[in-house]
Amino acid sequence: MAWSDELKTRFQDRCLFSEPLAPYTTFRLGGRAESLVFPAGQEDWAWLLGFVRRRGLPLTVLGLGSNVIVSDSGLAGVTATTRGMNACAVSAGRVEAQAGAALDAVAARAVEAGLAGMEKLSGIPGTVGGALWINAGAFGQETYADLVSFTALDPEGRLVSRARGELRYGYRKVEDVAGLVFLSARWELRPGEPGRLREERGATLRARAEKQPLEYPSAGSVFKRPPGDFASRLIDSCGLKGLTVGRAQVSPKHAGFIVNLGGATARDVMTLVARVREAVLAKTGVRLELEQVPLGFSREAA
Ligand SMILES: Cc1cc2nc3c(=O)[nH]c(=O)nc-3n(C[C@H](O)[C@H](O)[C@H](O)COP(=O)(O)OP(=O)(O)OC[C@H]3O[C@@H](n4cnc5c(N)ncnc54)[C@H](O)[C@@H]3O)c2cc1C
Repeated sequence: MAWSDELKTRFQDRCLFSEPLAPYTTFRLGGRAESLVFPAGQEDWAWLLGFVRRRGLPLTVLGLGSNVIVSDSGLAGVTATTRGMNACAVSAGRVEAQAGAALDAVAARAVEAGLAGMEKLSGIPGTVGGALWINAGAFGQETYADLVSFTALDPEGRLVSRARGELRYGYRKVEDVAGLVFLSARWELRPGEPGRLREERGATLRARAEKQPLEYPSAGSVFKRPPGDFASRLIDSCGLKGLTVGRAQVSPKHAGFIVNLGGATARDVMTLVARVREAVLAKTGVRLELEQVPLGFSREAA
C-alpha cells in the first residue's frame, strides 16, 4: 500500500494532502504540506512516529505556527499539528494542559483561578508544545520557571516524563528535547490576588498591542536577544527599520519583527533576514541568532 493510503486509512478525514500551510502559520506564507494530519492524542502520535520511521518519511510537528518560516516549496512527508489536543485543567494550584492548548488560554485560566506566574505570558500566540520547545517567555516570566514536568513521546514512540529539575534550559533554549513530541505540561503556581492578576494580564496585552505590529502577519521576534542587548535596538541603530524585500519588511514599529505586507514569500523573508544579519554584523560585530524556525529549506536555496 502506498504510504499516503496507509496514512489516510488511519486518520480518515483528519488527513489532508497537498494542503496549503500559510493558514496554519501566523506569517501567512509558505508552500504546501505533502500531507497534513491532526493526531488526537498519545495513541495517534505513537502510531505516527512508528509509521514515519517504518516508511522513512520526514515528520514536521506544528503547533500554532507562530514561530516558523515555512519554505515556498512546502514540507515533504508528514506534517502533524497538535491543534486537536487542547484540553486544560486547573485545580489546587496546579495547571495541566495538553500540548496543543493555546498558551494564552492557559495563562487566562491561571489568572481566573487566582494563580500567579503565567499572567505575563498572556498574548504569546503559540501552543504549550511550542512554548516547551523554546522556553517561550515575556516580561520576565518563562514557560519553565514554574513548570513541574512535561510528558512527551520519544522518536521510538515511548512515553517519557521529565521533571523541571532534570532539564537544562535558559533564555529561549532547552537542551536535549530534539526529537521529542510534547504531549502535556504541568505547572505549580502561587496563589495571587485575582483582581491584580487580571490587571497584569490586561496591561501585558495592551503593551504588546502598543509595541508590536500586530496589524500584520509575522512570527514575532525574528532573532534571539544577544547577550546584554536587544536585537531590535541593534537593527534600529543600523537604520534598518522599513527595509523591504518583495513584500516582507522590517517593521517600522518594532525593528525586531519582520512583517508580511501581504503576499510575501518565504524567500522574501529569508533574503531580508540575511540582509539584516549582514548589516548588523558589519556595523556592530554582533552575530544575530535566528529565533524563528525555518522549515523545509533543504529543498531550495533559501
Ligand atoms: C505576534 C507574535 C508575538 C510573539 N511574542 C512572543 C513572546 O513574547 N515570547 C516568546 O517566547 N515568543 C513569542 N512569539 C513566538 C511564538 O509565539 C512562540 O515561540 C511560541 O512558543 C511558538 O508556539 P507554536 O505553537 O506556534 O509553535 P510552532 O511555531 O508551531 O513551532 C515552533 C517549534 O516548536 C516545535 N513544536 C511545536 N509544538 C511541538 C510539540 N508538541 N512537540 C514538539 N515540538 C513542537 C515545532 O516543531 C517548531 O520547531 C511571538 C510570535 C508572534 C507571531
